[in-house]
Amino acid sequence: MKVIDKVQEMQNIVNTHRKRGERIVCVPTMGYFHDGHLSLMKLAQEYGDVVIVTLFVNPTQFGPNEDFERYPRDFQRDYELASSIGVDYLFAPTVEEMYPDGYSTKIIVNKFTDKFEGLKRAGHFDGVATVVTKIFNATKPNVAIFGQKDLQQTLVVRQLVKDLLFDIDIVIAPTVRESDGLAMSSRNVYLSREEREVASQIYRALQKGLDAINKGITNRDVISSYVQKHLSKFPQLTVDYVAVVNSENFEEPAEFVPGENVAILVAVYLGKTRLIDNIITKIP
Ligand code: AMP
Repeated sequence: MKVIDKVQEMQNIVNTHRKRGERIVCVPTMGYFHDGHLSLMKLAQEYGDVVIVTLFVNPTQFGPNEDFERYPRDFQRDYELASSIGVDYLFAPTVEEMYPDGYSTKIIVNKFTDKFEGLKRAGHFDGVATVVTKIFNATKPNVAIFGQKDLQQTLVVRQLVKDLLFDIDIVIAPTVRESDGLAMSSRNVYLSREEREVASQIYRALQKGLDAINKGITNRDVISSYVQKHLSKFPQLTVDYVAVVNSENFEEPAEFVPGENVAILVAVYLGKTRLIDNIITKIP
């Protein structure tokens, strides 16, 4: 696996591969790899000939009071993990390489960004849309892989690709979980032992919502109350939001209809650590 830290060099490399008719698959990440990241990398190999993993903790998607500075980083470990999976290139530019002096452009996606993560983390999706655009221009992929773990992000990225005419197929990969159901996340390392134990209740709460739907409940508020009720049993958890939405357009009808794909979204704080998770199901 080759490590690339310059945009120009990355572009030269992908140009060569493209001339040979090879399909390029890109997996954008912020590093500190876990099995969720590795599953995306493995999936990437099924979609093309050349796999590029990008590793960039993007400052523009963090708010001023968020965890950019303390976001976990371990380049050597990431290098070894990606390399062991058979990734071809690890594109790991510096902040200065991506946002040099005089940098002055921002990409704003207006759809899907006014609620949930977009509302709670002002400017977050502008940072995501901007960096994803730059990553796409640096790696020129035919396919890019994103995780369902960040469901709202997948809608924003699809909208970006559609609106700006990127000739890139977006693939969404399922969420990889710990054995107790906690969605893998680089941020899980922030959790104390006690917090880590309680964190598994997020998935339990999502399951309660799923149970409600499988019982035939179609009312959004009632489904949501099952999730909230479970979370409220754990005083260590502070709910940021619970939402039940149509998973394709993020609309929130009062009643869902049979056959509709529904996502239950949860964001909670455990101490200072903010965790998100979601589950998608079909109304029976
Ligand atoms: P991150 O490094 O957290 O920005 O994540 C990079 C990519 O991995 C994003 O597309 C995430 O949605 C995805 N991802 C994060 N956690 C998981 C997980 N537990 N399972 C599958 N994909 C994940």
